[in-house]
Amino acid sequence: MAEKKTVSAAESGRKKAAPAKKTESGQTVVAAKSKGNATGRRVGAVILWVIAIALEVLAILLLFAKIEITFMNTLTAIVILLVLDLICVIAGSLLWKQANHIDPASEKNKTLFWIWNNMGLIVCVAAFLPFIILTLTNKKADKKTKIVATVVGIVALLIGGLFSIEWNPLSAEQKAEQEGIFADKVLPEGTVYFTQFGKKYHLYFDCQHINQSNTIYDAALDKPEDKECVDIAFENGCNDVCKTCKERFEKAQAEKAAAGN
Ligand SMILES: [Zn+2]
Repeated sequence: MAEKKTVSAAESGRKKAAPAKKTESGQTVVAAKSKGNATGRRVGAVILWVIAIALEVLAILLLFAKIEITFMNTLTAIVILLVLDLICVIAGSLLWKQANHIDPASEKNKTLFWIWNNMGLIVCVAAFLPFIILTLTNKKADKKTKIVATVVGIVALLIGGLFSIEWNPLSAEQKAEQEGIFADKVLPEGTVYFTQFGKKYHLYFDCQHINQSNTIYDAALDKPEDKECVDIAFENGCNDVCKTCKERFEKAQAEKAAAGN
């Protein structure tokens, strides 16, 4: 075997990133805890989104002079409201996407799966599009107010949309597949390998996709402290098994089965 050095994930700096946790049965507790965090994040996302819509309503009321403020210029107030609206939309969407990586939805119904993952995008449209349309159709507002409010609304919609789209969706099936491989402990040597910023985990340390990396983390899945590092890497988006490794692994399994018969 080649003399390639790997770094134990738990012994490396990754351990410090892990939340302090003392468990007697590592795996289940970590999984249960992750689900709890997902619910908290979803509640937080919904609260932020409700605030975002409320801010939009305030901006619309100001635009139509349904409410008046005396301490600042109306246009300035509208722009401030839209910026706060944008911050709430983005913060909510980031929480929502984190929750979906901890507790993913099933992809059996593709449409529902897309909608669930892109709730942030839908809220973002709801948080800016009505404002933009109402501004454009408002006959009372002066020209400057109309132009500035429309441009700010469109820019906010675009920025919010970019942050709210789920670019890297994870399904319950994908996660179950990963956990199934882990639970069966049928991995070669019971270890997975990943790199600092890699989006895939590997089953073989000499895989062509990582063997040029300076540092390869290895994590033994029967060690709770290592399993926790894998969970953190997983939540950070390293949640897909490398195709090359998977094919190699399946081929090896098939050969093993054939030899056994
Ligand atoms: Zn690989």
